[in-house]
Amino acid sequence: MNKQNHDQIISRKKEKTGWLRSAGESLLDLLYPGRCPVCERILLRNEPMICEKCARELPWVREPFCRKCGRMISDPARELCSDCESRLHYFDEGRAAFLYEKGMRRSVDRMKFHNHREYIPFYAQSMAAASASVLPVWRPECILPVPMHPKKRAERGFDQSLLLASALGSLTGIRVEERALVRTRYTKASKKLGRESRKKNMRGVFALDPAVRLPARVLLLDDIYTTGTTMDTASHTLRMSGVREIYFLTLCIGRGEE
Ligand SMILES: [Zn+2]
Ligand SMILES: [Zn+2]
Repeated sequence: MNKQNHDQIISRKKEKTGWLRSAGESLLDLLYPGRCPVCERILLRNEPMICEKCARELPWVREPFCRKCGRMISDPARELCSDCESRLHYFDEGRAAFLYEKGMRRSVDRMKFHNHREYIPFYAQSMAAASASVLPVWRPECILPVPMHPKKRAERGFDQSLLLASALGSLTGIRVEERALVRTRYTKASKKLGRESRKKNMRGVFALDPAVRLPARVLLLDDIYTTGTTMDTASHTLRMSGVREIYFLTLCIGRGEE
């Protein structure tokens, strides 16, 4: 076979696999069309991540918000929310992208309990946007996903904060330290407990892998900040081991009481 024929066959082969691949992709699109992670409507071609309507109505955390935990407050003259005014936190500062309500709340619940991992790129993009102005100030040297207990992870099949951390790591170029912080105790859902019992429930929950040397500035990452107990417990563990600056970023944050 001469070279020309050989090249022709190769290019024909390429065309064929290219065609097959795109046919396969359109078939996949038909079978599993991309859906809006907020309202679940089928996405149009010009809507790469979420539908236009939801994009307009996303519950972004807006000013005024608490300078410490990032929770929205109603009085612009105040620096801190009532929670941060009344107790000390072990973290330095944190931010969240969205309020944990309505469509976003349902979206996060679907991602966690119905395995919608395909929402992660949209979540990570939103977290990157929400932290774009503070990351250059905080300058965290690594991202630490708040870990799940291995048993819970096995039940769910994935660890959402690890997935979020990896996605955010690739968007921001910040290294992800996924094994440093470990969850040593299986905790029951603490939503219905009061603050004191919640604190007790979380005691000794996190530990650090002694093999990992942590840098001076870290960024904790989780899906939701509600009472702040989990974030405080994790921050306490880090503080005790000598980490100097502890920041956090979550996808959603509760309104909390004011
Ligand atoms: Zn939508
Ligand atoms: Zn606060």
